[in-house]
Amino acid sequence: MKCIVCHGEDIQIETVKEGLKIENDLVYVSVRIPLCHTCGERYYDRRTMQFLEKLNRKLREERWMNLKEVGKILEYV
Ligand SMILES: [Zn+2]
Repeated sequence: MKCIVCHGEDIQIETVKEGLKIENDLVYVSVRIPLCHTCGERYYDRRTMQFLEKLNRKLREERWMNLKEVGKILEYV
């Protein structure tokens, strides 16, 4: 597999943290996806996309289920 962005060949399956935006909050979820080590491009297959979409809906419905606070998101005004 070659990277479509940088044409590098150093693509490995890695566990990365994906940020899901739920209204004003950001929820990180770990997913295992192919990641280009040269430029950092992430490749999502259909199953991962569906998993993230489902989780996004679930989190909107059941707000704080299985979540732990790990930091704050601040906005400079
Ligand atoms: Zn790349």
